[in-house]
Amino acid sequence: MDINLSELRRREGEFVHFEEEIELDQINFHQNELPVGEHVRVSGGAIFTSDESINVSLDFSADVVQHCRRCLAPIEEHLERHEELEFRLDINAEIDSDGDLSIFRYKKTDKNIDLVPYLKRFIKLNLEPYPLCKPDCRGLCPHCGANLNLEEDHQCQEKEEEKGAKDPRMDKLGELL
Ligand SMILES: [Zn+2]
Ligand SMILES: [Zn+2]
Repeated sequence: MDINLSELRRREGEFVHFEEEIELDQINFHQNELPVGEHVRVSGGAIFTSDESINVSLDFSADVVQHCRRCLAPIEEHLERHEELEFRLDINAEIDSDGDLSIFRYKKTDKNIDLVPYLKRFIKLNLEPYPLCKPDCRGLCPHCGANLNLEEDHQCQEKEEEKGAKDPRMDKLGELL
């Protein structure tokens, strides 16, 4: 997913379209490796301006699988985003964001700009940081790990306490004393 800078420079002032379907490997997000759908669709274009900036307009869609923070069920998120990027030559330029525009820098010696790291960054920025399979997910039983969404009347702890009280071995022990 490279923007060829010599071609872009040659076509200065012209919006050069691109459209690609790429495979992204896993994305690190909050210490989790997230699988990303095989086909990330990317389209948009780039223009080399007279002040040697490169403006990139990027549309992408991707399917990312996260896991519910409470019950660990897989959650597929479909992302569709439009992003505007500007690459500036100015070495002293702050790498910053200006509203909806993200500003980065590139070097005069760069032959290409690889959009993949930026794509990953935008995907991460748009992911749900605390994903839940449903707002009222009941999570897992802290004692046995049972999924409480599937077992409405799960009463693990109470049952165990009951069991302890009525343990026949305790009765035997009582008799012996
Ligand atoms: Zn859940
Ligand atoms: Zn349980």
